[in-house]
Formats: sequence, C-alpha cells, structure tokens
Amino acid sequence: MLVFMLGVMLPAAGFIVAGASYLRNIQRNKAIEAVIQREHQQVLAIAEKRIDARAYDIAEEARAKFPDVNQGDRLEAFLVAHPDIAHAVLWAGKGHVQGQSQPARMNEPAFGEEGKEFSSMIGHWFDPESESKDWIAKLKKMEAKEGKHVYLTDNWVSRGDKWQYQSLVLFVPRGSTAEHPALAGFVYDTDYLKDKFFPQALNDVLPNQNQNDTHPQPVIMVRTVKDHAPLATSLRWDGGSPEVERSFEGVFPGLVLGIKLRGTTIANISNHFVQTAFLILGALSLLMGGGMLLTYRNVARELALAKLKSDFVSNVSHELRTPLALIRLYAETLELGRISNPGKRQEYYEIIRKESERLTSLINNILDFSRIESGKKEYSFRETDVADLVRSTLESYRFEIEQDGFQFEQKIDNDLPQVWVDREAIARSLLNLVNNAVKYSATEKYLGVNLYRHNGGVNLEVVDHGIGISAKEQPKIFEKFYRVGDPLVHNTKGSGLGLSLVRHIVQAHGGEVAVESEPGQGSKFIITLPVQTAEVQQAKGMSA
Ligand code: ADP
Repeated sequence: MLVFMLGVMLPAAGFIVAGASYLRNIQRNKAIEAVIQREHQQVLAIAEKRIDARAYDIAEEARAKFPDVNQGDRLEAFLVAHPDIAHAVLWAGKGHVQGQSQPARMNEPAFGEEGKEFSSMIGHWFDPESESKDWIAKLKKMEAKEGKHVYLTDNWVSRGDKWQYQSLVLFVPRGSTAEHPALAGFVYDTDYLKDKFFPQALNDVLPNQNQNDTHPQPVIMVRTVKDHAPLATSLRWDGGSPEVERSFEGVFPGLVLGIKLRGTTIANISNHFVQTAFLILGALSLLMGGGMLLTYRNVARELALAKLKSDFVSNVSHELRTPLALIRLYAETLELGRISNPGKRQEYYEIIRKESERLTSLINNILDFSRIESGKKEYSFRETDVADLVRSTLESYRFEIEQDGFQFEQKIDNDLPQVWVDREAIARSLLNLVNNAVKYSATEKYLGVNLYRHNGGVNLEVVDHGIGISAKEQPKIFEKFYRVGDPLVHNTKGSGLGLSLVRHIVQAHGGEVAVESEPGQGSKFIITLPVQTAEVQQAKGMSA
C-alpha cells in the first residue's frame, strides 16, 4: 500500500498541482493576451507596409500623367482625368505658382478657397531659394536611393469646425532644370481616403476571411490622431475600440492603425482558454482519482484475498491433521487388540467412521471448489423429489446431531413439486449449512430444517440458535475463504469454502441463497430453488 501511495498517488497529485499552478501563472501573467497582442502588432506592421506601397503606386501613376513645367494650362485637364485628386499646384520659380482645384467640385464654395490657400501655401514654402533647393535635393536623393519620384506626407485643413486629413504628394515635374528648378504637388482629399483608398487597402491587407469560420477574426481600422472615431474600417468591423494600435510612420503621419477581434476581446479569448484548460485538468484529475480509487480497491482486495488464502492453507492443514490423528490413534488402539469391551470397540469404530466422513466431506468441498474455480464443475440435473432428498440426507446425521445434544426439528411440506436438480450438489449444500449450524451453536443447541413451496418453487431453510452473524459480515460470508474474524469463529475449525460452494451450487440451479441473522440470536439460511423444466435447464446450458 505504501508503495502504491508513493509510486502512484504522489506523482499524480504532483502532476495535478503543477498543472494547476502553471495555468494560474499563465492567467496571472496574462501570457495569452501578450501573445495575441504581439501577433496583432505584427499584422499592423505588415498592414502599414502594404498600405504605404499602395499609396506610392497610386501617386506615382498620377505623377506620370502630370503636365510638364511649361504646360501649366493642362492642370485642369489633369484634374478632370484624376477625379480623386482635390487640388494640384505647379511652382516654376520664385513667384511663379499655378494652382487648380478639382473642377467637378467647384460648386462647393469653400472648396475653391481651400485650393487657393493650398497654392499660396506651396508658393510660400518653396519661394525662398534655399527651401526649394532643399526640397529638390531631397526628392532627387529619394529617387536615387529608393527609385521613388514622389514624397508623400500629411496636410491638415479645417473644414467647418473640424480638422480634415489630406494626403499631400510632392515631386519634381518634368522640364525642371538646374537653372529653372520647378516643384509640383497635388492632394488627395479626405473623402477619397475615407471612402475609397483606406476601405480597399484595409480589406486587402487582412488575411483571407471565411465568413463561416467560427474562430474570432481580426478586423482593422484607421483613425487620425485627433479623433478616436474611425476614418475608415475593414469590411467586417463591428464597432468598439481597437485593442492594439500602431501610428503610421511613413506615408501617412498623423494616422493610426488599430486592430481588434470581431465579436470578442483578447481578454475573453484568454479567459476562455484558461477556463477550458482548467476544465480539462479538472476532468483529468477526476478520471485519475477514479482510476486510482479503483486500483486502490483492487490492490486492497488482492491483498485481503492473499491473506485469506494463507489463512485457508493453515486452516485446512489443521482440519486434515485432526481427524487423521484421531483415526490413527483409534485404529492403533484397536489393532493392539486390548479393547475387550465390545461397546467401547463399537464406539471407536464409530469415531473412525465419523472422522473419515469429515475428512471426505472436507476433501469433497476442496475438490468441488477447485473444479468451480477452474470452470470444470459439471452438474447432472435430474427431476427430483426434494422432500425425499432432504429427508434421506438428514437421516444419517439425525442420530449424531441429537446425540450432540441438539434439538432437531424437521418440517417438510407435503405435495412439493418435483425440482430439476443435481442430487449430490444439493445434498452437499444442505450438509454444509447443517454443519455450520452445528459448528456455530455453542450453547443454544437447536437445528431446524424446513422445506416448503414458495413462489412456485421450493425453499429450503436451515435454522439455528447459535452465535449469529452481524449485518456487516453477512454479505461477506459467501465469499471464498472468508471467515468472520470473531474469536467464537476462530476457535471453530473451518476452511471458509462451505458457503461459497453453497452459493455457487444454488446459483447454478437458477436459485439464490440468503441469510437472516442477528448476533447471539442465531441464523437462518434460505435456499430458493425455482422449478425449472428440462427444456429451460438445457437452454441455459446448466448441465455444462
Ligand atoms: P467455514 O468453514 O469457516 O464454516 P463457511 O463458508 O461455511 O466457512 O462460512 C463462512 C463463515 O460464515 C464462517 O466462518 C462463519 O464465520 C460464518 N457462518 C457460517 N454459518 C454460520 C452460522 N450458522 N452461524 C454463525 N456464523 C456462520
């Protein structure tokens, strides 16, 4: 048992405790939240790169169509061909600024004003010679280094009471020379960014989303630093605020990318994970506990059985030795021929007979038991008059029992049905019960045997007024080798096989054996035998 506790229980308990504390750690350190957040950061970094690339592509494409330095009059045509661009401006040296706003929107009064403001702002920017030189140098350097002809940055305008975000594209137009340097630019309006550019870009950067996927899927949005409400969102954005944010660094300074999980939060996912893990751990612990309980019970049972077996061996040896010693003693005495009294001689013969009978019945019990254990016990069922069987079995014992000082009562009903039984086996069962009744009645010497019709079958009862059996022991006495640990029983010889044989035999007949008993009051063993026809018996394969 100690080995079992140390070898199985301790590691199992250790495993459960370690598992639980590991999970607690994960929960406390918010480890799962951290992992998901890191993953989200990566998604946002990749998203920013892709959005930037897309913005460059679009701006480069427009720049390629932009009029040459000396074609300022074509600005309007350029804007007509690019309805997404709000204003365009061409600076061709100090004081030479040409600006044009999107003709399609000139009916918005504030819009034209905004365009003029934009042109003059650009003029002011570039007019100092040093400033324009710096810009051109910067753009040329970009071109040489990254192969990009445009520089993108933010441009904030106030419309009504709100600050609007625009995207400004600057570049050196065709026809700009060292003597006559020129710069040009155009802006993408908020509306374009909000309604077209970002919705498409955000959807494109998200991994393929399956509508039927039940896993929470990431959704992203973009907002300006001045406003928490989204400027644009990916298609399946479900409101709320993002869980992880990242500020744009390159093309869209002043914008922030945000990501969250659709329909849930990172905290929810983490809680769900930890809860599921705890549940699994709990279920595993229960299974393990159950398994260990079963193993423990099995081990305990095996140990008890091993002890019963060793008791059995010493009981049986003892039981064999006593009658053999008596037989030998009386046989030797008779052999010497010194006993002249015929009465005495007769008594000795009787003792030898009785002791050899005891030996035979003990050996028969052991043989039967071993046949039953190895599954080789065979019964030969025959239609039998049980009343006759019981009467004749008891007859040879009646005298002896009465001589032992027992009051012997036998009640056998008339007209009992014929029962299909193995005569020898039933006789052995009855003798085992009678033997026990005699053995376990030290002071109150009474033996009753009743046979009566019951529920269409037959009941056979053996009653004594002996030491009785406590309720706790009653279910165990039918187990093999089991003997009650009472000193009264201990002092009586026995092998612990009798009742287990009785039960096996009776069950093989389709019946049951039960006990009613109270300590100090005596016991009643009841064998119930059903009346079975030959066909039923054979169908059950009972003679096998
Ligand atoms: P045993 O050889 O010990 O009698 P059994 O299988 O016949 O083995 O009986 C098992 C145990 O049941 C006995 O050891 C005894 O403790 C108890 N027992 C059986 N019959 C009686 C009885 N008539 N009165 C009291 N105890 C009994």
